[in-house]
Amino acid sequence: MPIYEYECQQCGRRFEYFLRSCGDEKKVKCSKCGAENPKRVVSSFVSKSSDSSCGTHSYG
Ligand SMILES: [Zn+2]
Repeated sequence: MPIYEYECQQCGRRFEYFLRSCGDEKKVKCSKCGAENPKRVVSSFVSKSSDSSCGTHSYG
């Protein structure tokens, strides 16, 4: 379950977002002010294995 933490670059609010698919990250918005493109914060739990191939594929 990829749950990422984001920090809004506009209002500074931190929030978590559950990504159901790789493309979901494009839809992430601040839960407070609705600003797009929040900065992803590295959360405390990081998998030891290398990153899954997320990002290069585009769906539709
Ligand atoms: Zn915000």
